[in-house]
Amino acid sequence: MTSSETHEPLRQAVADLCGSYPGEYWRKVDEARGYPEEFVKALTEAGWLAALMPEEYGGSGLGITEASIILEEVNRSGGNSGACHAQMYIMGTLLRHGSEEQKRKYLPKIASGELRLQAFGVTEPNTGTDTTRLKTMAVRNGARYVVNGQKVFISRVQHSDLMTLLVRTTPLDRVKKKSDGLSVLLVDLREAIGRGITVRPIRTMMNHETNELFIDDLEVPVENLIGEEGKGFRYILDGMNAERTLIAAECVGDGHWFIERAKTYAKDRVVFDRPIGQNQGVQFPIARAYVNVEAANLMRFKAAELFDAGKPCGAEANMAKLLAADASWEAANVAIQTHGGFGFAVEYDIERKFRETRLYQVAPISTNLILSFVAEHVLGLPRSF
Ligand SMILES: Cc1cc2nc3c(=O)[nH]c(=O)nc-3n(C[C@H](O)[C@H](O)[C@H](O)COP(=O)(O)OP(=O)(O)OC[C@H]3O[C@@H](n4cnc5c(N)ncnc54)[C@H](O)[C@@H]3O)c2cc1C
Repeated sequence: MTSSETHEPLRQAVADLCGSYPGEYWRKVDEARGYPEEFVKALTEAGWLAALMPEEYGGSGLGITEASIILEEVNRSGGNSGACHAQMYIMGTLLRHGSEEQKRKYLPKIASGELRLQAFGVTEPNTGTDTTRLKTMAVRNGARYVVNGQKVFISRVQHSDLMTLLVRTTPLDRVKKKSDGLSVLLVDLREAIGRGITVRPIRTMMNHETNELFIDDLEVPVENLIGEEGKGFRYILDGMNAERTLIAAECVGDGHWFIERAKTYAKDRVVFDRPIGQNQGVQFPIARAYVNVEAANLMRFKAAELFDAGKPCGAEANMAKLLAADASWEAANVAIQTHGGFGFAVEYDIERKFRETRLYQVAPISTNLILSFVAEHVLGLPRSF
């Protein structure tokens, strides 16, 4: 059996679930700048968000290939995985580096949906992509860390129970390598919000619950340190290949959704007594977008296969993310152009998905930073920053 035949039942099952959440559902959530609570609950209860979690902790023990298909199908159906995708990859930090006690305490509850681990706090307003310079500081005081600092664009905080937080535990001027001295803390948001963390929502152009966090004397028990103190940056890096591959799959899903809509409309819409899709000026951009989505998809599956085989996949995961984000954005542009004025009408969903897919040129890693990774680590060019 080919890989696509093997995965057909999985695709179908996720597509069936997504079928209960049509464009109208997502449009309403978008208009209200709400959270797709029912959808996330249904996806969790069906076990899809625990796909990457081993069976012994209540998950289904699937690989990145399958997990990426789940998120691809959500976006391909017209939905937006951004509301919940992070649980899949943040959980990996706890799974790979957490103590057995931490894993037993949290993972089964995350798998069942009793607890949500949807938030991760890395980005800071004054340091941006230059992560190792982050300023949020955790100082040990007996059995607790006392944390002070600020984070920005931290998503899903208001719909999450737990958050992994990257902090500095040794000041930058006292470490040999700037990536040393950073640590990951598991923060219980149910206790921390209002008692150390103040949340200021940031309204964005698409519906994405993201926030600025002001952290003042937040107390975190030492037992919530994940792994070893000072090694947190490596733990976060470990999760990035999974994150890049999953986001690439979401972009592939978006790309196919845009192309499907553009294709259907181009066949149906008659102007000058013929379907607009009969004009090469209309059909070629759709065909080109399709070619690019399919090409990106190959790199996405290459990255996923390497990841699942436990082989290095940094280059492929990054390239997949770049190619897929570019391809979905191209497809978004083509879909809006093909629809003429109707592309801008909210009820067609094109403008909503257009706004949603644009994010992936910037987050979770911007296109320039992927290019600099490839230039330096794949091509051996001098580091540019
Ligand atoms: C909706 C949304 C949700 C997000 N969710 C989360 C989250 O949950 N958790 C979290 O931690 N973060 C989150 N982020 C943050 C996101 O990861 C960052 O916005 C992203 O990594 C870019 O960082 P920055 O915004 O600080 O841009 P900057 O680092 O300030 O960069 C600005 C621009 O300059 C470019 N640039 C910077 N340095 C270089 C260089 N050396 N060479 C070439 N170009 C360069 C970048 O590519 C970018 O285009 C989210 C962001 C958004 C918009």
